[in-house]
Amino acid sequence: MSEEQAQKAAEELRSKLNKWADEYYTYDAPSVEDSVYDQTYQQLVDLETHFPAIVTPDSPTQKVGDRTLPGFTKIPHEIPMLSLGDVFSIAELKDFADRLTVNDGVPFEYNCELKIDGLAISLRYENGVFVQGSTRGNGQIGEDITRNLRTIKSIPKRLSRPINIEVRGECYMPKASFVALNQQRQTDGDAPFANPRNAAAGSLRQLDPRVTAHRKLSTFMYNVADYSDLQSDTQSGMLAELKALGFEINPDYRVATKMADIDQYIAEYTQKRDDLAYGIDGIVIKVNALALQQSLGATVKVPRWAIAYKFPPEEAQTIVRDIEWTV
Ligand code: NAD
Repeated sequence: MSEEQAQKAAEELRSKLNKWADEYYTYDAPSVEDSVYDQTYQQLVDLETHFPAIVTPDSPTQKVGDRTLPGFTKIPHEIPMLSLGDVFSIAELKDFADRLTVNDGVPFEYNCELKIDGLAISLRYENGVFVQGSTRGNGQIGEDITRNLRTIKSIPKRLSRPINIEVRGECYMPKASFVALNQQRQTDGDAPFANPRNAAAGSLRQLDPRVTAHRKLSTFMYNVADYSDLQSDTQSGMLAELKALGFEINPDYRVATKMADIDQYIAEYTQKRDDLAYGIDGIVIKVNALALQQSLGATVKVPRWAIAYKFPPEEAQTIVRDIEWTV
């Protein structure tokens, strides 16, 4: 393939991906399965890797999320909210770990976490009091959803210590709430949500917080914007510290010191996945030492110290369905 042909093919892939991203991020109503998006995205990555000159700054491979909805005040993220690089096989995961392995061959310690299928939120506290909450948006600018987040029980309105901190994590809709919500929507003649992730996003990005309050959302927090606000020096320590501050964290995290531990964790949660009360779409593997996370840094889109292992799609299905916009 010539560079000119590659450029043309890349433009076609970008146009598809941008359309799907708009449906997914802006309107919470995807028309294709995530696996279809992921495969198309991977084709673009492959093309751009072979022909680096065709990469454009606005390519989906170079940016996080998408537009923010009108009607919401925009909140700039002083520290960007990033996405995650992903892998789809244990072999690719091993490659990631090999690339990170320090010179003397000693592997890092990793923290394995469940990849919660919701949407990223950021919560700001002043003197321990919740003052502002936002969506990830395009990673640089999010939507102000403070009033909606105040309706969620798992989000502490006051922390156990009077500190200034910005905490990040995932807002999700438990499976049982999702089923009940879709039943209700069907009874009311409303289009059902495609999946719990889109239901959570549609419920959180409502102009009327009373709607959000009825949607039974919950949260798991797993990060902070600025590590200097913490006492911990590891990712696993951070989770314990967030819990002590009053946040809900996902308890099923585990420190791994070798690849076999990570394999075991993935095998275990691939099996337990259906029994969990909330959806997960993979496992996130993070370098445990926060100092190492900082020295590894990030690309424009993803941290270099973490990777998501995505589960294979549960069923081969291409088109989700046409769904009305929900806001
Ligand atoms: P992502 O969802 O693949 O991964 C990044 C996100 O994972 C983070 O922003 C965070 O919100 C979340 N996360 C959950 N648990 C976490 C944990 N323990 N630690 C850290 N982060 C955690 O990336 P993305 O950029 O949000 O979305 C891209 C994905 O969205 C695609 O791979 C695709 O599956 C899906 N998508 C689908 C369509 C579609 O049309 N179906 C369109 C666009 C995107």
